[in-house]
Amino acid sequence: MTVIMKGSEVINAMKEKMIIEVGELKNKGVIPGLGIIRLGVKPPDLAYEKGAIKRAESVGINCKVFEYPETIAQAELIHEISKINADKAIHGILLFRPLPKQIDERIIKHIISPEKDIDCLNPINVAKVFSGDESGFAPCTPTAVMELLEYYKISVEGKKVVVIGRSLVVGKPLAMMLLKKNATVTICHTRTRNLKELCREAEILIAAAGKAKMITADFISQGGIVIDVGINMDQVGKLCGDVDYEGAVNNVSYITPVPGGVGTVTSSVLAKHVIRGASAGLL
Ligand code: NAD
Repeated sequence: MTVIMKGSEVINAMKEKMIIEVGELKNKGVIPGLGIIRLGVKPPDLAYEKGAIKRAESVGINCKVFEYPETIAQAELIHEISKINADKAIHGILLFRPLPKQIDERIIKHIISPEKDIDCLNPINVAKVFSGDESGFAPCTPTAVMELLEYYKISVEGKKVVVIGRSLVVGKPLAMMLLKKNATVTICHTRTRNLKELCREAEILIAAAGKAKMITADFISQGGIVIDVGINMDQVGKLCGDVDYEGAVNNVSYITPVPGGVGTVTSSVLAKHVIRGASAGLL
């Protein structure tokens, strides 16, 4: 029987732990604070912000939105981020991307303090992920994948894991995090030859390509484990993943749905990182 890896179950388990941790921090006089930096009012940013705040507040985290016009000058943004870095009530900073064209992300990513960089934008945190040093913040989406695997007690050690996608947001850091847990990882991308054959060899297949339903049942080994990171629209405008869920679900041992899988866990990871940031401040 196929196990559907439900984000809601992972979220509930994480929430229980986080409420206890926040309670302990509050006893020590610390209220964890999330600072969201948003430039302009793009609907996807607003939607993500709403979800992130709801999730963070549900475990007792204070949230503050720092909203600036989309036309903000780079020097001013640097000045504002520096103030938030110094704000003792903020323990984690989320900056929405993509940034407007007058802002150079290559500069900005260095400005966010690594200690508050809860979605791994600063190259110091990126380097830590790539060198197997778990003392920094890894990006939230790959961490959500690791949380799902852990909750469902799926060990990756020694397993053949194929990751489709090599972006710095998902594919590459996820591959490094799996490697750290002793998986044998293959990273696939648009130039990969024999993608289907490689995928079929995977004991765990993780799709993060951003192509609606591209992974059909014939890409998946019988009884394989499938994690779908993709968030896409299908031909009729319905939310779907990179995996053809209906076609795959009966041939796999575990699978994440879209929606209701990896995406939903991401906000909980964000909250978890804020709490970690607040705890680290006490050390
Ligand atoms: P991206 O476009 O930056 O990267 C996609 C990667 O997939 C590239 O490395 C590309 O080489 C590879 N790829 C694309 N088409 C391919 C194909 N046909 N065959 C093989 N490889 C292919 O996207 P991203 O930011 O990494 O996001 C990937 C997906 O994950 C998107 O659907 C995005 O919406 C979703 N996403 C989900 C979350 C979440 O919280 N669940 C967060 C971020 C991104």
